[in-house]
Amino acid sequence: MALDIVQKDNPVLHEKAQPIPTKDIQSEKIQSIIRDMSVALEAQHDGVAIAAPQIGVPLRIFVVSGIVFTPEDEEKKTDMVFINPEIKKLSKQKERMDEGCLSVRWKYGSVLRHKKATIVAYDEHGKSFTYNASGLLAQIFQHETDHLDGVLFIDKADDVRDLEPEEIEKIKRGDDA
Ligand code: ZN
Repeated sequence: MALDIVQKDNPVLHEKAQPIPTKDIQSEKIQSIIRDMSVALEAQHDGVAIAAPQIGVPLRIFVVSGIVFTPEDEEKKTDMVFINPEIKKLSKQKERMDEGCLSVRWKYGSVLRHKKATIVAYDEHGKSFTYNASGLLAQIFQHETDHLDGVLFIDKADDVRDLEPEEIEKIKRGDDA
């Protein structure tokens, strides 16, 4: 069953999501939310990451698609889970990056993002880890932690535009954008 992605006017996208007690990470409830997030993300051809509020769950979890970590010619793509993520360090250097969101269909805009970001989080087994990212992944970290604080990219972008119908069709077909 395909899971609907919550759209931008839903209040769950505008509130602060709650942290998960570490002892609950391995509970069936949390594990099933993580599975639902991966399923919902998989169904979106252009999706690279998803935050729990986007499936209507106000908890501090986001999942990054394995596509982001795996070379294109490799078969196995494992999604990466970030629970109670905290950005610990941001580069001074910023750049304007094109951005869209599965909860803000079908709009694009450019957002000023830090080029590098260091995040600390728990994985789906309850183990703490640190990840240093740059480029697309650093952008994803900033976009997704914003979601957990009730912030959407359209709150930050200053040139939001609607995609052309042809561009939308292309995404729906799964062509590379
Ligand atoms: Zn988003």
